[in-house]
Amino acid sequence: MRKIGSVLLAVVCLFATGILSAAEVKNVIWIIGDGMGPEIMGFFMQGARYAGLDGYPDNVSHLEKMMASGTWGLYFNNTYDTVVTDSAASATQMATGELSRPEIIGLNFKGKTVKNLLEMAKEKGKSVGVISDTYVTDATPAGFTAHAPGRGWKMDIARQQIDFGADVISGGGLQYFSTDENEDLLKIAKKRGYRIARNKTELAKVKSGKLLGLFADKAMPMSVELYKHPQVPTLVEQAQKAVELMEKNKNGFILMAEAGKIDWAAHANDAGAVLAEMKTLDALIAFAVKYADEHPDTLIYLNADHDTGLGSFVYRYVGKEEAARKTAQGEALYGHNTDYASFGAFKLFEKQTGSLYYLEEELKKMPAEKRTPEYIEERLSQTLGYPVNIAEFKNLNDIPGIFRQVNEKRGMAWATQNHSASPLIGVAYGAEAGRFAGIYHNTEILPRLKSALGWNED
Ligand SMILES: [Zn+2]
Repeated sequence: MRKIGSVLLAVVCLFATGILSAAEVKNVIWIIGDGMGPEIMGFFMQGARYAGLDGYPDNVSHLEKMMASGTWGLYFNNTYDTVVTDSAASATQMATGELSRPEIIGLNFKGKTVKNLLEMAKEKGKSVGVISDTYVTDATPAGFTAHAPGRGWKMDIARQQIDFGADVISGGGLQYFSTDENEDLLKIAKKRGYRIARNKTELAKVKSGKLLGLFADKAMPMSVELYKHPQVPTLVEQAQKAVELMEKNKNGFILMAEAGKIDWAAHANDAGAVLAEMKTLDALIAFAVKYADEHPDTLIYLNADHDTGLGSFVYRYVGKEEAARKTAQGEALYGHNTDYASFGAFKLFEKQTGSLYYLEEELKKMPAEKRTPEYIEERLSQTLGYPVNIAEFKNLNDIPGIFRQVNEKRGMAWATQNHSASPLIGVAYGAEAGRFAGIYHNTEILPRLKSALGWNED
């Protein structure tokens, strides 16, 4: 008894003197780049380093800075029985530490409801929140706040999110909280202490309490189109407000922040939009890293749920006609008219003022007779931000095919419009970051996080 007493006293002294403080992570900011495979990370960092991207005067991205002074590892994301995953299974596996199946939210592969990180944190008295630039009931935020047999159960997921009572729920998805069976949900949320913000002005007015931010009926705008929506907050503005509200809790907070549109842009094989989404993510990284530097009890973990598209610059052989034109433009060709891709492509990507994702939707919905070559040329030129000559494109009825040719002309190739099984990179920064080195599986992130938080007792 006496011995235990003195050991306890010694431990208390160590804590009091701060010697053990390294094991005390108080706040976690978990940033998930949806669809952000290693190729996309590399594409963005290479652009900042060597292509003079706007906004990077010292030629280094915040992602690169975070990686340079943080710890990183490589991990797999397969589900219980599939090699490739979707965002639902991936979020579930990351948030619960258990294997699941595609399209499932918060249940393990046996269909059993399993506790997630935010539920655990709430029990421990922390503030918890999710933000996203898609909609809050989408697979990634849902995997951290709800349980459902399918990701399509959005109405149910919205009700669960309010029932759960996360301190911050912020993103798009107003319709899931205000129509049909959920037409009273905003009222219920208010009764439960939520302040509701639908735009930047309303968001700025929320100074305390719980936040339900719903800035679009469904998804929020793509980053390339954000300039058209001055009242829609950026992802960083959402994160700043979330942290401002939750850091008041003396027990700390856990925030899951999703940059969800990388995936959407990559599904459309839209390199320009991917670049813009990566800049959005990078601004979020800058904010989080600064916060961790000022609050040494904060851990940042940055990763992806899966890769989308397997896109990269590739070399290609060009015909004599095109070779002559390219040389005339001063672009370098090697050997047998081989185009090894030009850094100038990044500058073209930065001109983009619309997204191919939405252009594809628009063109597919149009009656074929209205989709004339002139119309496609006009809309494509507007979207890409530079004049294209439609005569250089083949098979104008195949819209994804046109976009593939756009990519080709800029040196990009994509293996798929879907997800791949690419291994992913997880980067940790700040308190206890060293725990995230090595090769692992996405179900092993949570146990590492729990150790970092000192939750090993359960
Ligand atoms: Zn996806």
